Amino acid sequence: MDSCDLLIIGCGPAGATAAREAARAGVTTVVLERDAVVGAKRVCAAGLRPGFCGTFDLPKSLVHCDTPRLGLFDAAGGEYEMFFGPGHTSTREELDGTMAALAAGEGAEIRTRALFRALKAERDRAIVEYADLESGRRRNISARSVFFAVGATARLEDASFGRIAMARWRDGLITTLQYRVHLDRPAAAIAYETLELHYYCSRDGRPLIAWMFPKRDHLAIGLGVMGKMDGATLRAELDRFTERVARRLYSGSAVTKVKVEGHLLYGGVARRCVADGRVLVGGTAAGFVDATNGEGIFEAALSGRFAADAVARRDRIAERYSRSVAQRFAHRLAHRVLLMRYLERRPSRYARLFAQMAATPRLAEVLLKEDCERSLRERAFLYRQALRFWANTVRAIPATSPVPIRP
Ligand SMILES: Cc1cc2nc3c(=O)[nH]c(=O)nc-3n(C[C@H](O)[C@H](O)[C@H](O)COP(=O)(O)OP(=O)(O)OC[C@H]3O[C@@H](n4cnc5c(N)ncnc54)[C@H](O)[C@@H]3O)c2cc1C
Repeated sequence: MDSCDLLIIGCGPAGATAAREAARAGVTTVVLERDAVVGAKRVCAAGLRPGFCGTFDLPKSLVHCDTPRLGLFDAAGGEYEMFFGPGHTSTREELDGTMAALAAGEGAEIRTRALFRALKAERDRAIVEYADLESGRRRNISARSVFFAVGATARLEDASFGRIAMARWRDGLITTLQYRVHLDRPAAAIAYETLELHYYCSRDGRPLIAWMFPKRDHLAIGLGVMGKMDGATLRAELDRFTERVARRLYSGSAVTKVKVEGHLLYGGVARRCVADGRVLVGGTAAGFVDATNGEGIFEAALSGRFAADAVARRDRIAERYSRSVAQRFAHRLAHRVLLMRYLERRPSRYARLFAQMAATPRLAEVLLKEDCERSLRERAFLYRQALRFWANTVRAIPATSPVPIRP
């Protein structure tokens, strides 16, 4: 049976970063990835936070657009602009492909067309069974530690996942659909410097997040809804949203090609337990996604870094990893879930929040930081802002049912 120190399941930003950094530290690392080409099938708007390439030592050439402008749209379609960073956009085929190539360059072995099947514990090793989709054979590999980085489809409900299993994982899933819209000539210039996020209700009154993220050769226009929505309804919603974007940003251009893609995202609370014995879980599989905007690439890559660091130190791996992710994300991500559920209950609250953010540039800046990076002064500022927002929403907004936007 093959064996390695660290076995990673999934070669997205979490798995590839863990592989690169563990291999660099001298850990024998194998990655199992079910797709034939890393990143080729990932559905994502691929917006990256400021400084992402520097933080993870990635070439700036994978950035398509620098986006210093954030356009937040409230439930009635009103736009609030903010400036930050700049943020960036890319595509996942480039991002994941680059990360995987760098991991391989450090000595990690990446086995594509390798589909995880089962995990079992055996004395001091974990044994993973996977399907080699090339040969059609089942294979086993033993590892000292296993890092699960399989994204939103990770139920991890099997008894072998011990305390990592989470009964309510499915409740946090978001159904998404996205168009890659190619145009015969560029859209309005402002489109290429803006990340747009729209918060409104579907025609049947369900909260939606929709986005327009610019790329070199197309616009990524998509939306997500908590839970399930049947394909035809979702597509009708996305068509309506795309028409609105088209009217504002590319009314003079002809659409030459549209690629339709859909996938699940996770937008609920993170797993309480992310490491049990030899098994660690990271990235979206651990629930590390910002519920207010769907950002999860940064969190995934950082959790991969924490996993590599814990494994390289060779003792108290689960404890070290759990502590790192808790210190870094737990506070922010938990608060974002609460904030999102609070806003969704009355979508008119979005307008209050965005107006406050637009009028207070420092708020967006402080919000971008993790709790552990904020000074005492910044924390006090944030609490004052939260209190102001809460007082505004409680006082000024009558209880109304969500009003869907008219196209
Ligand atoms: C429509 C959409 C838009 C998004 N937009 C953004 C954005 O703009 N910015 C942002 O930061 N985040 C965004 N996200 C979230 C982001 O995509 C995820 O948070 C991020 O991809 C998580 O990385 P990961 O490595 O944890 O998992 P993933 O990127 O999902 O990678 C998981 C990998 O595991 C592989 N895999 C899965 N199952 C198996 C198996 N059984 N065996 C072997 N391999 C397996 C998959 O093929 C994949 O390569 C978006 C998500 C969606 C769905």
